[in-house]
Amino acid sequence: MKTAGLYIDFPFCIARCAFCAFHIEGFRSQWAEKYLDALKKEMDHYAGQPEYSDYAIKTIYLGGGTPSLYEAETLSQLLSHCRNLFYVTPEAEITLEVHPATVNLENLSILYQGGVNRLSIGIQSFSDAYLKLLGRHHTVDQAKTAYVLARKAGFKNIALDLIFGLPEQSLRNWEETLEEALSLSPEHLSIYALSIEEGTLFGRKANEGSLCLPSEDETIQFYETARSILESRGYIQYEISNFSKKGYACRHNRLYWDREEILGFGLASHTYFKDEHRVNTHQIPTYIEMLSKNKLPVSLVEKTTPTERQMDKIIFGLRKTEGIPATWVEPDKTLRETTTQLIAQGWLKQSDRQIQLTPAGMLMADEVAMAYL
Ligand code: SF4
Repeated sequence: MKTAGLYIDFPFCIARCAFCAFHIEGFRSQWAEKYLDALKKEMDHYAGQPEYSDYAIKTIYLGGGTPSLYEAETLSQLLSHCRNLFYVTPEAEITLEVHPATVNLENLSILYQGGVNRLSIGIQSFSDAYLKLLGRHHTVDQAKTAYVLARKAGFKNIALDLIFGLPEQSLRNWEETLEEALSLSPEHLSIYALSIEEGTLFGRKANEGSLCLPSEDETIQFYETARSILESRGYIQYEISNFSKKGYACRHNRLYWDREEILGFGLASHTYFKDEHRVNTHQIPTYIEMLSKNKLPVSLVEKTTPTERQMDKIIFGLRKTEGIPATWVEPDKTLRETTTQLIAQGWLKQSDRQIQLTPAGMLMADEVAMAYL
């Protein structure tokens, strides 16, 4: 049986974080309830297609946005709905993204009983001052409590997200944040450099010149410090931003880097299925309205050629620390030359017939991708 992953998007949040450019709405908006019905309709449509029936679902990822704003019973029912529509393997990894202010022992226990077996807690910082600056609407205490309650509820696979390179952040502050995270002993840690996006509060402040951001060299130092601290504590770096204890790499995210098949449901979700790449509309009212009229909320469909898919495998595969087999670039003169050039630049290295990013290349992954494209 062929395998695939499911991604389900929930585009609602408590409020917009200062750095966030995602397509989200406030949860109290008129849309949250109607969105669920639309989501089920979209899933029903695709599950009814014969081409999906011979797929086993090995990962489900409930992301967003803040899916944990929905009642735990509602999310559990949605998972049951998925199981009724698709064959979800008994050992499937089922991840839920949670915001620390939205959880308590009762709803975490319901989610665990409902089949969620991996939590991704968006903590971002262990400094109350930074949490306030980031507009996170939770405190350090709430984040720690969420983690402790998740363990109490039974979760054995917990991932934490952290952001570095914050305005006026010192290396000391970043090291303290990492130490706080490590003291909790999560199975997985994702670390991201703050990215300033147009249309966000930070974007406006940066344009006004009122945001004092670390220099590029300092940002590199934050990243290198994190790599060295996490590796010294037994965490394995398996992708540019992702570290885990042995056996706890995120199976769902690996599907993206391996360019395996993923069915995306919900707002702005991407589907990679056979030779097709589909993207859903980014507008919540359009998404709901189209499904209410039994139309698919797709805003882009593109057919990909085997060459394009192989190029994607190279570019996304290089994000993983294991890299890609050299045989993927050797048959093509241009790919071979680009690889040689990137090795000379110090961004790639070749060993044991594998091509991998160097530590310097990990910070230049976008430039490496552009060089191949
Ligand atoms: S919780 Fe996540 S998705 Fe929601 S506004 Fe903040 S960063 Fe964006």
